[in-house]
Amino acid sequence: EELAPPQKVVIFASPGAGHLIPLVELARRLAVDQSLAVTVVTLTGMSNPATDAAVLSSLPASVATAALPAVSLDDLPPDIGFGTLMFELVRRSLPHLRALMLGPSSGPVTALVCDFFGTSALPLAAELGVQGYVFFPNSFALISIMRHIVELHGDAAPGEYRDLPDPLPLSGGPVLRHADLPDGFRDRTDPVYAYLVEEARRYGRADGFLVNSFEELEIAMAEKFKRHAEGGAFPPVYPVGPFVRPSSGEESDESACLEWLDRQPEDSVVYVSFGTGGALSVEQTAELAAGLETSGHRFLWVVRMPSLDGNPCALATIPGAEDNPLAWLPEGFLERTRGRGLAVAAWAPQVRVLSHPATAAFVSHCGWNSALESVAAGVPMVAWPLYAEQKTNAAILNEVTGVALRPAAYGDGLVAREEIAAAVRELMEGEKGSAARSRARELREAAARAWSPEGSSRRALGDVAGRWKAAVVDGNGRIG
Ligand code: UDP
Repeated sequence: EELAPPQKVVIFASPGAGHLIPLVELARRLAVDQSLAVTVVTLTGMSNPATDAAVLSSLPASVATAALPAVSLDDLPPDIGFGTLMFELVRRSLPHLRALMLGPSSGPVTALVCDFFGTSALPLAAELGVQGYVFFPNSFALISIMRHIVELHGDAAPGEYRDLPDPLPLSGGPVLRHADLPDGFRDRTDPVYAYLVEEARRYGRADGFLVNSFEELEIAMAEKFKRHAEGGAFPPVYPVGPFVRPSSGEESDESACLEWLDRQPEDSVVYVSFGTGGALSVEQTAELAAGLETSGHRFLWVVRMPSLDGNPCALATIPGAEDNPLAWLPEGFLERTRGRGLAVAAWAPQVRVLSHPATAAFVSHCGWNSALESVAAGVPMVAWPLYAEQKTNAAILNEVTGVALRPAAYGDGLVAREEIAAAVRELMEGEKGSAARSRARELREAAARAWSPEGSSRRALGDVAGRWKAAVVDGNGRIG
């Protein structure tokens, strides 16, 4: 008797390394731990192909990948905003996804997993008779904020966040200042607003959610969503995080960074990075340099090309080969800090840096992956959010989880050198810093427990995979 081919799961990734990194981790665990056949589907445009390729190269050989062909976005106004472009890119790529899933097959597709920005693919899952899941690459709290945006747009009470009290208590989450809402959520006239409402409306149609968080990180929120699911108010949300890339030895060209860390005392280095898209102005770069210099602490700073147009998000900018971010540092800075500071251009092997014994603290833009990597490594943070939902993440990390300090001065204006030095010193030496450091140690243990053999996240992913394996595929979902 012939063995049935393994059931297939199609993972549909939104653009950007911040999306692809946890999805690759999801794919790896589904393939290796759950023996499912997995295909990771990526979009073309709006992400750096070299970074995508590097991220995808860490997939086990058994995981298939497919890149959908490019679609035109030329008709959209140039100032329409990054989020809107993402939603449109996904929407316009759906016919290609459909063609791929209907292509010649070696086995039935049991589930389509889409990402934030990608839920316009859920109706396709329904049409093909496959289960439609959402991988939510962020917190429970952000799902809650998304649910809220739909309630505000109910027929009975057409409103918007702007009409709500400021700050807004989010049951089970942080007390959220409106200024900390994700970009695009505050104002209905923002072009992305309608897309967000639509995205959130589709959530109710998903068969389930996987969220890149874990029970002990957001205890009250996790409970709240359990009750929602039991009451049928929202699909089940399975906390399966933290998904942190295992540190591989492959990033050898970046080992200069790690060799330097090897020479530093234990728990002495402040790691500074703003993720794959964060860009500071030239003036802010100079202030940060001066702040690190006056803090007196050791530092490892990933310097990216400065923003010349005031936009803190450079995700869509692909750096030229001749770009040298270090050339934008203040005169003499590298010489004066030689020995106790290292500035590296553009990229560091962050997971390995954070788990290095010399690393003590992280000045972070609070991208959710970075936050989880820091938590998993037991490293406390100074929150320096720049764009997208980073301010919301900073509020969660500060108020709910207690692993980050959030200096008041880190608002939208220039952060002065004195403020930077003071925040670094507080985190490294102060009383508030001490509380954040001990919370970080506790959460490191909790993160490890979540993925221990009987841990909550491991069990949750096993449950979901079990559902997928048990599904009788009666649609015509097929993938080549
Ligand atoms: N990253 C890295 N080296 C860098 C910058 C980023 O390895 O120099 C990785 C980081 O470890 C994380 C991801 O890129 O996994 C960034 O995702 P995050 O959600 O933190 O922020 P985003 O880049 O999406 O703003």
